[in-house]
Amino acid sequence: MCENCHEHGEGKIWYLQAKNYSLDLRSDLKRRGIVFDNKLYWQSLQKWEAIKKKPFLIRAIMEPGIRRRVRQQHSGQVLPIEDVEKVFEIVNSVVRVDCWCRKARNVKDLRYCYGISVLPPDEHTQRVARRPGSGFLSGAETTGLERLTKEEALNHMREYEKEGLVHSVWVAPEPFIIGICNCDRSDCGALSRTVMAGIDTLTRAEYVSEVDPELCNGCRNCMRVCQFGAIGYSAANKKVFIDVTRCFGCGVCRSVCTKNAIHLRDRASVPVAANLW
Ligand code: SF4
Ligand code: SF4
Repeated sequence: MCENCHEHGEGKIWYLQAKNYSLDLRSDLKRRGIVFDNKLYWQSLQKWEAIKKKPFLIRAIMEPGIRRRVRQQHSGQVLPIEDVEKVFEIVNSVVRVDCWCRKARNVKDLRYCYGISVLPPDEHTQRVARRPGSGFLSGAETTGLERLTKEEALNHMREYEKEGLVHSVWVAPEPFIIGICNCDRSDCGALSRTVMAGIDTLTRAEYVSEVDPELCNGCRNCMRVCQFGAIGYSAANKKVFIDVTRCFGCGVCRSVCTKNAIHLRDRASVPVAANLW
């Protein structure tokens, strides 16, 4: 299990714990002075990028601290569509918002990010939330935002997956979950930084994929959608193979395989990948 599961999951996958979404968690974090500081986040990220260019010894000393600081402010984890579905069983409010990364890159269709939240399981809060004119009926204050039903949002994500977009769940600050993004390497700053520069604000999924060579026909559709360069092709066997040390466990390759030759398995059950996050 990843470090977030150990710290915030109580032995389970952390993003499947309702307490990590709840608005009362955010209030509690705020009370303790733990808030998302956009300026601090970007400054820390720039510092991390600068440290990456330093000699090995300096990197070895300085990188763990800055990595921790950035990730505590804002970080994400890849998750496959079946876990997105489980997340949507927990949350009770979904809005679609502009994607910061695509906006910064002037990409036309900007709304690939979904804000999600859970109303605290507290009777008083629920009563207040349902009062007419309170601004929201369930979940967070969403006035002026594009509200979606859970089914609508899930259908969007299923379509994104067919286009090769990777789902990821995000905190700001840790462990308060704010949303699910749908990204690819060309447009997502976190994904490209993680893969190309080793600035891993994105954690791998709890899974890795596996190919059944008996079913694979070598069409290579899966290779075309893998954002992480984890799939190779053997000209001798006319089949693909997966490098589990590179696999982020997104499951996008599986969704384009017409032969059902790819499945996901628990990362923990694959010794060579079990401790790669
Ligand atoms: S998409 Fe499926 S059948 Fe095609 S190469 Fe990949 S695993 Fe094999
Ligand atoms: S090989 Fe791994 S990283 Fe690449 S698409 Fe498949 S699950 Fe995602």
